[in-house]
Amino acid sequence: MEQSHDPAKGGEVAMSVVGIIGSGVMGKDVAVTCAASGYNVVLYDHDPGVLGAAEGDIRTLVRRYRMTAPEDPRWRDKGIPDRIRITDDMAEFAGADRIIENVVEDAAVKEEVHRELREVCGEGPLIAVNTSCVSITRLAALAARPESVIGMHFMNPVPLIECVELVRGHHTSDETVKRAEGFVDSLGKRPVVVRDSPGFVSNRLSHLFMNEAAFLVQERVADPEQIDEIFTLGYGHKMGPLATADLIGLDTVVDSLRVLYEDLQDPKFRCCPLLKKMVDAGLTGRKSGQGFYTYGVSR
Ligand code: NAD
Repeated sequence: MEQSHDPAKGGEVAMSVVGIIGSGVMGKDVAVTCAASGYNVVLYDHDPGVLGAAEGDIRTLVRRYRMTAPEDPRWRDKGIPDRIRITDDMAEFAGADRIIENVVEDAAVKEEVHRELREVCGEGPLIAVNTSCVSITRLAALAARPESVIGMHFMNPVPLIECVELVRGHHTSDETVKRAEGFVDSLGKRPVVVRDSPGFVSNRLSHLFMNEAAFLVQERVADPEQIDEIFTLGYGHKMGPLATADLIGLDTVVDSLRVLYEDLQDPKFRCCPLLKKMVDAGLTGRKSGQGFYTYGVSR
């Protein structure tokens, strides 16, 4: 284990800075997870509107996890929001030990961010890419030290999911895998290391389920509730594929299906037209308040 995840023990973790790029659904969840484990966090986004809302969103998330995970002592720490510094300047990552990139699931945008990162942080930190499907190898090739780049696929909601899929790209060194495993361990989570391939293990499987479930709704074979019940009550999954798609964000699901379709050149990943239509209409799931289901609170 690289470091203790007990904030009370302070020491190495308290000195340690994690830079987070992208303050969307995942960026904020990863930020509060790291801060709850005692890390100092620098949270960056390029969108002033997103940054303006980030502090309030973070306080809401901490309150939510304090209630949903009352058995976890980390959430009782009142100092979690104070350990997250919000910035519009990537230069503040200088000196960070680890950087976790969580920008939109668009390979071109991620490439631009990784090129910029190369200028900012040079050779030092571990660079973790939180992506559903984009090639880790392709992004690592843009880095100052491709061997220090690894995929770190956190799952949503980050504090409540035990597993993190670590993705070893073509260049990723053994030392980087070890550092990443230690870091995931310090967050109280279990790393599972797989090789780089579009969608890795998790999303290659889950996007087939979610896409096919959308086709079933489009063809009026069943309602979203019925489809999800077959998964939860019939197969014992915690959530059905359509509730999961709403949680992820239908825009992110559509983007990921595009990457899978293009990178694997396999028609089985063709995106269901209903999913695209819902995204065009702004029905992106929980974050917009409406997807396959209606939600009272957006995030
Ligand atoms: P999101 O759309 O909620 O947030 C993305 C953020 O990136 C936005 O705040 C946006 O302003 C920011 N951004 C875009 N371009 C930027 C740039 N050039 N510089 C800085 N910030 C920029 O997306 P998300 O759901 O948080 O997903 C982020 C990543 O995590 C994606 O690669 C996604 O596939 C992956 N992921 C998502 C989930 C999920 O459930 N949503 C789960 C696992 C992994």
